Amino acid sequence: MSRRTCEVCAAPALSLHGACAFCRSPLPASSADPERLLVYLTEKLPRGKARRAVLNPNRLKRFSVVAADQTFEARLQKVGLRLTPEADPADWVDRLLHALSRDAARDTSLRTALSKAGWALR
Ligand SMILES: [Zn+2]
Repeated sequence: MSRRTCEVCAAPALSLHGACAFCRSPLPASSADPERLLVYLTEKLPRGKARRAVLNPNRLKRFSVVAADQTFEARLQKVGLRLTPEADPADWVDRLLHALSRDAARDTSLRTALSKAGWALR
């Protein structure tokens, strides 16, 4: 059975080896909607940069955030998400959280934002 949302952290469901990519709770399958994932990241990571569609400001086009000196970018395209560095969405989130965890070690406000989001530091 696949869920659209993680029941524990309320993130769009992204399963990595049977666990939620964000909070590491058991999650059997992924069915995250690409646009919801983009909106979710924008809400939870105020340090990131969001770019909206020119003709439709309600529509997010791109989200990018720098973590551990690396730029992570998600771009919404017709076929789904184009991610930088290139990876499956669940792997990309896992890498992003590894990098954010490194920054959070010396950034209290980031640590607070991550724990408020219910994400598991790596
Ligand atoms: Zn979760």
